[in-house]
Amino acid sequence: MRLLFVSTPVGPLGSGIGGGVELNLLNLAQALVKRGEEVTLIAPTGSGPACSARGLVCIEVPGMPPELAQNQTREEAIVLADPSLLTNLWQKVRVLESEYDLIVNWGYDWLPFYLTSFFSRPIAHIVSMGSLSDAVDGRLAHVIAHFPGTVAVHTQTQAQTFPFAQDLVVLPCGMDLTQYEFNPNPQSRLAWVGRITPEKGLEDTLAVAVKAHKPLDIMGYVQDEPYYRRCLASYPQAEVTFHGFLPTSQMQAILRESQALLITPKWVEAFGNVAVEALACGVPVLAYDRGGPQEITLDSITGFVTPADDIEAMVEALGGIELIDRAQCRSRAEQEFSLDAMTRRFSNWFKQIVEVS
Ligand code: UDP
Repeated sequence: MRLLFVSTPVGPLGSGIGGGVELNLLNLAQALVKRGEEVTLIAPTGSGPACSARGLVCIEVPGMPPELAQNQTREEAIVLADPSLLTNLWQKVRVLESEYDLIVNWGYDWLPFYLTSFFSRPIAHIVSMGSLSDAVDGRLAHVIAHFPGTVAVHTQTQAQTFPFAQDLVVLPCGMDLTQYEFNPNPQSRLAWVGRITPEKGLEDTLAVAVKAHKPLDIMGYVQDEPYYRRCLASYPQAEVTFHGFLPTSQMQAILRESQALLITPKWVEAFGNVAVEALACGVPVLAYDRGGPQEITLDSITGFVTPADDIEAMVEALGGIELIDRAQCRSRAEQEFSLDAMTRRFSNWFKQIVEVS
């Protein structure tokens, strides 16, 4: 297959702004190329180094990113930036589409959903967030009605946030597990990994760490600086080590030392790559029952799933963390969330779309 991957317009690949999409897109592209498929990436300017580090072909496109959907209200109108990166990306797709069998859209944006019926090649849409915008969902409903089976999400919980949940294809992600080292003997520390922005709920993790008297390692891209300052100011007694946004190899070296990864989101987490990455290191996951991490984590086996926003419940669950067998965590990642499993799931889906188009 000749595949044209169109990256999320929110930021360059390798920046961390795109969250889990970045790793999933790069991992899948690389795995498909290894299997003999042809994959070209179209991505925001600045994506080149992350792509060439993996031997991937990337066409860089300039322009201003759109406003993040999570920073807007559900009812907000669609506004394209000027000059619009999103428009530039899809103009490039229009020029190149005849050279490919399938276009793969990695963004939750109105424009590609609207444009779908104007392209001659089929488009597979991979949605990596829960429902956030009425206007975007309206166009997505249109795509589903006219091109059934072409829109995928990563978890059932994420699917349930959309009014057309039953029409979405659910394809969980997977990681290259060779990049994560199993550690059976952690230190008495906790970890938090993610974009630092209100929907990720870092303040609740800080509250848990303080109540449990545990030091906390924080890794991730600071997307909202004032928010991060407020979080730290609210918990001055927290023993925090901030590492910034790290490449996978360095991130997992710190993550694997921790007793547990805490996931305390304020939005419905679509998947939660970081949950799989923790399990791959043998690190149990302590997650709110709000989104993907609750499907990845087997309660009382590979961590604990606790009621959303209930800090006391998470502190209590943390008390039982040593009952979790870290080898079980690693094997859960191997059984369900390997890159091989992800590649099989996605490449079967791509083939189905090409066959019926
Ligand atoms: N990540 C990273 N280095 C860091 C912190 C995070 O590479 O220092 C990556 C992590 O590997 C994961 C992504 O950031 O792939 C976060 O994705 P997740 O699905 O957990 O959340 P999202 O940001 O997509 O909501």
